[in-house]
Amino acid sequence: MNIDKPVVFINPQFTFLSEGTFEVWDDCMCFPNLLVKVKRHKELIVSYKDEAWQSHEWKMKDDMAELLQHEYDHLNGILCTMRAIDDKSFKWRM
Ligand SMILES: [Zn+2]
Repeated sequence: MNIDKPVVFINPQFTFLSEGTFEVWDDCMCFPNLLVKVKRHKELIVSYKDEAWQSHEWKMKDDMAELLQHEYDHLNGILCTMRAIDDKSFKWRM
C-alpha cells in the first residue's frame, strides 16, 4: 500500500474488527469512475510481516481502516461492488 510511502503487508490478518461501522462511498482503480456505498468497520488491528519478515501490529481507524479493508478484500477476490449496501449504492463520479 502507498501510505505517504510504500508499506508492505505480508500475510495481513485482522486481529480486531470493531463492532462500530460507518458507511462510505468507496472507489477502486479497477473501475475508476464508479463509486460504491459500503459499510466498513470503524477500527481494526492488523498483524502482518514486513519485507524483512518482521512482525507488526497496526491499529487503524476511519479512512486508514477503510483503505485496509478495501485492499484486504482484494486479496480474497472481493470487490467493493460485492459489498454494496443496496441497489442504490452505485453512482458515477461527477
Ligand atoms: Zn480496489
